[in-house]
Amino acid sequence: MASDKNLRFDALVLGGGIAGLEAALNLAEQNFTVAVVEKDASIGGKMIRLSKVFPTLDCSSCITTPKMAAAAHHPKITILTYCELQTLTRQNGDLVAGIIQKPRYVSEEKCIGCRQCEYECPVLVPDAEQGGFAARKAAYIPFSNAIPQTALIDPGNCILCGRCAKICPTQAIEYFEQPEEFTLTAGTAVIATGVEMIPVEDKVQYGQGQIPNVITALQMERLLAPHGPYNRVLRPYDGKEPDNIAFIQCAGSRDQSLGLAYCSRVCCMYAVKEAMLLSGALPLADITIYYMDIRAFGKGYEQFFQTAQAMGVNFVKAKVAYLDPGQDGMVKVRFESQEATGGVQVAEHDLVVLSLGLVPGWDPEGRCVLSTAGDKFIKTVKPKTSPTLTDLEGVFVAGAAAGPKDIVDSIVEAGAAAMEASHYLAASKQ
Ligand SMILES: Cc1cc2nc3c(=O)[nH]c(=O)nc-3n(C[C@H](O)[C@H](O)[C@H](O)COP(=O)(O)OP(=O)(O)OC[C@H]3O[C@@H](n4cnc5c(N)ncnc54)[C@H](O)[C@@H]3O)c2cc1C
Repeated sequence: MASDKNLRFDALVLGGGIAGLEAALNLAEQNFTVAVVEKDASIGGKMIRLSKVFPTLDCSSCITTPKMAAAAHHPKITILTYCELQTLTRQNGDLVAGIIQKPRYVSEEKCIGCRQCEYECPVLVPDAEQGGFAARKAAYIPFSNAIPQTALIDPGNCILCGRCAKICPTQAIEYFEQPEEFTLTAGTAVIATGVEMIPVEDKVQYGQGQIPNVITALQMERLLAPHGPYNRVLRPYDGKEPDNIAFIQCAGSRDQSLGLAYCSRVCCMYAVKEAMLLSGALPLADITIYYMDIRAFGKGYEQFFQTAQAMGVNFVKAKVAYLDPGQDGMVKVRFESQEATGGVQVAEHDLVVLSLGLVPGWDPEGRCVLSTAGDKFIKTVKPKTSPTLTDLEGVFVAGAAAGPKDIVDSIVEAGAAAMEASHYLAASKQ
């Protein structure tokens, strides 16, 4: 439904991950009004879904939640969740964004986040926020520290039983809510749309998600998280505690057959981190990382890798070719070793974690005239001297939207993008 709502801000930040939030806070602190447009039902991006972060092993949600709250409570920042950008154009010196507010079927104004609808809902479905290992209701708040604490109803699974509407103390349930289109005008924009993992279904050689006990690194983050699905690490296939776990590096990255010729940069370090956390959680387990090269590029990262070796994590220099299902939920890993022993070998593990390649979180094609580079990430026109500058005037890029990167680099780049954006606003007001 088109509405005549036309919001006006100094800056639009597209994406409410750590880079978007950092850019928004930097701009707001300079007294600019900022709209953060996020496609998910909560801000927080990947970081709020992680267990701990390399190389400090700080609790990820303990660092991210205060940032999310600071942005949500800042008087100069407006957070628009569950919104999709349709178009971004330049008109009379302004950036004009066409946005669709997806229906939550729960009024944002009326919902008080009491979760009565969630407790009352009789429908259970796999919870993607917990890697699919736990269940959520059809009426739900995405996760415990989601911002905003507003419920939504998943129309694909709702059985329209009416129980949520009956129990809701503020009459917030709106079964017939429609998508709303509106316009947002801004002087400048920061694109912070981040990354996604390549779908596991794309990896034919690794069973396309069909082999039991083969999970993604993001699912392992959930198994390791303090508020994860089981509160301990268990195999999804049979609930058994794993004692021989493998990580497969470059599962998709540096893989021409999938069109991902590049290195996804963070996978070596997050696999090392997850292996270290697993050694703590399961001290008797054998942990092997199959890798082509270890790229420990950041400050303190090489020491972090060496600590994992000292803790007994087994590093095998090899390229894994195939995964096959074995007996009793075991996974057969066929690899070509580059160690002295060499040759093609097969090992069995009871849990395998895929360090999948990272691809752009958003494709501007057809929505705005922002160019992408050969790797499909947002193109930066002065990568050495102004790494946040795009080829659309007044639009800057921050964080993993310009290419896979770790949290530190994403935050630094978000600060740089905010500074460029504030200079641009100041210059255009003169
Ligand atoms: C398994 C795993 C473990 C990791 N562990 C670590 C670690 O320990 N330490 C570390 O430094 N780094 C780690 N990283 C990397 C870290 O996740 C990234 O550095 C960080 O998330 C980048 O932040 P970002 O805000 O740029 O992108 P993201 O976190 O991807 O956030 C992007 C946001 O934009 C939103 N968005 C996307 N498209 C649109 C759109 N069209 N409209 C509106 N919103 C949109 C998304 O929903 C998301 O909220 C890990 C990554 C993975 C995959």
